[in-house]
Amino acid sequence: MSVQLHDKTFDLFLTSSEIQARISEVCEYLNRDYADKRPVFIAILNGSFMFAADVMRRFNDACEIQFVRLASYVGTSSTGEVQTILGLSADLKGRHVVILEDIIDSGETMVSFLPLLAQKEVASCQICSFLVKPDALKHPIDVAYRCFDIPNEFVVGYGLDYDGLGRNLPDVYHLH
Ligand code: 5GP
Ligand code: MG
Repeated sequence: MSVQLHDKTFDLFLTSSEIQARISEVCEYLNRDYADKRPVFIAILNGSFMFAADVMRRFNDACEIQFVRLASYVGTSSTGEVQTILGLSADLKGRHVVILEDIIDSGETMVSFLPLLAQKEVASCQICSFLVKPDALKHPIDVAYRCFDIPNEFVVGYGLDYDGLGRNLPDVYHLH
């Protein structure tokens, strides 16, 4: 099965049922590790909105969520600086944070975002990513919770877009 978005064709890569089953498995670990910690999930917009919703509804104890929008200036800055557009609230001090990401590619975004969290004096911080591209990683980032490790190729669907399109697809597709 394939879909056409703008000028490109994408082929089915991960089905919705595979995705949902794997998220359930990963959430067992989150439930085990954060049961009494009242974690704050921090979802990185836009791509992680579907993943964040699916994770959150599987978490069985008290938890909170915040949404953060990041803009990276990798193209114009040698440090790959990331700016928060929609911000972190001030009250994260002493809290256990779980970052929810759609995909970790080079790792630049996380490397820039983690110090912002450290400034908030959180008690702990782990990353939970729907997808990871291990071969694209340029930084040694510890992704404690991950659903799928995938090859270094462009994917869309389940929140991930190609130039604005494809976020609504329940399955994940890769370039034809
Ligand atoms: P990083 O900073 O780790 O290189 O990049 C992470 C961000 O790049 C993701 O949050 C996502 O927005 C975007 N990205 C990386 N790989 C892909 C991909 O295969 N498909 C889509 N749609 N976005 C990607
Ligand atoms: Mg993203």
